[in-house]
Amino acid sequence: MPVRPKERFLVFGSPRIEEAEVEEVAGSLRSGWLGTGPKVARFERDFAAYMQAEHAAAFNSCTAALHLSLVALRLQPGDEVITTPLTFCATANAIIHAGAVPVLADVDPETMNLDPEAVRRCITPRTKAILPVHFAGRPCDMDAFTALAEEYGLRLVEDCAHAIESTYKGRHCGTFGDFGCFSFYVTKNVVTGEGGMVLARNKEDLDRIKILGLHGMSADAWKRFGDEGYKHYQVVEAGFKYNMMDIQAAIGIHQLARVDRYYERRKEIWARYNEAFADLPVTTPAPAQTDTKHALHLYTLLVDQQRTGVSRDAFLQRMTAENIGVGVHYLALSEQPYYQQRFGWRPEDTPNATRIGRQTVSLPLSAKLMDTDVQDVIEAVKIALHS
Ligand SMILES: *Cc1c(COP(=O)(O)O)cnc(C)c1O
Repeated sequence: MPVRPKERFLVFGSPRIEEAEVEEVAGSLRSGWLGTGPKVARFERDFAAYMQAEHAAAFNSCTAALHLSLVALRLQPGDEVITTPLTFCATANAIIHAGAVPVLADVDPETMNLDPEAVRRCITPRTKAILPVHFAGRPCDMDAFTALAEEYGLRLVEDCAHAIESTYKGRHCGTFGDFGCFSFYVTKNVVTGEGGMVLARNKEDLDRIKILGLHGMSADAWKRFGDEGYKHYQVVEAGFKYNMMDIQAAIGIHQLARVDRYYERRKEIWARYNEAFADLPVTTPAPAQTDTKHALHLYTLLVDQQRTGVSRDAFLQRMTAENIGVGVHYLALSEQPYYQQRFGWRPEDTPNATRIGRQTVSLPLSAKLMDTDVQDVIEAVKIALHS
């Protein structure tokens, strides 16, 4: 294997792209068929098969997937959707753009996932749905969320942006809720550059989502992408322009075929990190819950200044100085000014998520990493923690 010279910056989340993707994209370009077409249809079928789901619909991002899923719930102004503060802003923004109010419940300090009992305490007569995020690839307690949804008559939408490989009691995450939304953004476990996918429990919901994702044009409009001659379409709703292109699916088809191989590589890296950091004054990820598969999307360290003598932000700077790219997933949403002003959110209202958000650092975990890169990351962590 080639060696990355230490003097070159190790980009966080840089994806592994192989020759098959390059060829497939070139094939799309040469054919002139760049937009939504047969490769998107194939990617949807392959993805549904991998998930052991009946059907899937591809879109141009997970943000779009979440937005469409929430719009499909027909939320009314004032309706509330309970979610986690430890997520990307897209999760909350999708709720807002679907016309509802996001409500934050705290996470469990060990799993960093939404705590079902905290969710229960947030339920009001206005609550319409729960939106758990399988954080870092660790499956949420889906028995508890399914039971809560049934008890209170709520809808369930899963943010599976980290969770392509995740399973809970043998079932893929994304198949428990009314909708499961996946991301193929460049840093995710399967990439298309930008891209997303929706699984839906009901075929009618999925059909509606496909219409909503293509301007609200009737199902026949998708046939415009075929070669059956001109067809008039009907606009049946005010939809969005969220369709995936064949150029994106061309990458995804080959990435998905390698999902298990890449997972195995990340598993090796994960084990090496666990071993290397065991005796350091940092908190490493909790072991996976029994009867689940953790998708190993983010390897996070908690850097507690009381314990290490180094602040998290100083640690981030030191890692960068060592030429190692790092991430923060995430500052709690209640730290962000927009939500504070609009919803009155305060960091102290969800103390577990706030503490994690102020201590967490994500280390490089891409299947692209070479053994020497992993060694460089480990050395850099040791240097960065040295006060
Ligand atoms: C990446 C991510 C999203 C958004 O995915 P895009 O495909 O970039 O739109 C949503 N939620 C979480 C938890 C994410 O990590």
